[in-house]
Amino acid sequence: MDLKYKRVLLKLSGEALKGENEIYDKEKLDEIVDQLITLANNNLQLGIVIGGGNIWRGKLASDLGIPQLNGDYMGMMATLMNVLALQARLNEKGYNKVIVYSALDVRTISSAYNFIEARQKLEEGYIVLFATGTGYGYFTTDTTATIRGIEIDADAILMAKNGVKGVYDSDPKVNPNAKFFEKLTYNDIVEKDLQVMDQTAAILAKNGNMKIEVFDMSGKDNLVKMAEGKLPSTTISK
Ligand code: UDP
Repeated sequence: MDLKYKRVLLKLSGEALKGENEIYDKEKLDEIVDQLITLANNNLQLGIVIGGGNIWRGKLASDLGIPQLNGDYMGMMATLMNVLALQARLNEKGYNKVIVYSALDVRTISSAYNFIEARQKLEEGYIVLFATGTGYGYFTTDTTATIRGIEIDADAILMAKNGVKGVYDSDPKVNPNAKFFEKLTYNDIVEKDLQVMDQTAAILAKNGNMKIEVFDMSGKDNLVKMAEGKLPSTTISK
C-alpha cells in the first residue's frame, strides 16, 4: 500500500460511531477499527482524537441548567468513552499496540500525556489515542486535534466528516449549489467564517503550520482511500 503520509493525526467525530437510537453502532465502530488496523499494519503512524458528540456536547448543558464549564467536563469524559470503545475493539481484533493518553487525570485506564513518549510510541507502531480533549473547558476536540497534531509532529491532520467531501461555502446538505473548495488557507477559514472547525483551531493550525485535510469518512474504506491520496478532500494550509 502506497501511503501519502508517514504520520497523521486523525480527527474523528463522535457522530461517526453513533447508531440511530444508541450511542454506538457496532458496524460503524468496526468499520473504523478495521481501517485503522489496515493502516497501522501498513506502517501509517496514527494519533487519534475523537469527539464526544454521540454522547454529549457542552452546549447541551444550558438546557439542563448546568453551567457550561461543568458541561464541558462532561463532554471531555464523553471523548474518553469513545477512546475506550476504540481501544477495546482494536484489542479484541488483535491489535494490541494501543496507548491511551488522557489530558485529565484518569490513571487506572490511561497514561499521563507526554508528547516525547507519544512520538516514541508512534515510531514503535502504537496507535496513540488522545482522550479528554485539551483538559480545559471552552475548547473543542478540533482544537485538541490541532494541538496534538503539532505536538506529535504529524505530516497532516486528517479531519473526518460525515457525508460531505470537504469544505463548502455553505452547507451542501441544505444548499445544493454550495461551492466546494479544493484548497483553502487558514485565513480563509477565519475571514469567511467557514464552519469546518472553530477559529481557535484554525489560528493554532496557522501558527503551527499544520496542514489539514478535510474528507468524507462515510463511504466504504474512505479512510484508507484518504490515506492513499485517492479521495477528494479540501486541503487547508498556508
Ligand atoms: N470539550 C472541552 N474541551 C476540550 C474538548 C472538548 O470542553 O478540549 C467538551 C466540549 O463541551 C465539547 C465536548 O467536549 O462539546 C465534546 O467534544 P466535541 O464537541 O469537539 O465533539 P464532536 O462534536 O466533534 O463529536
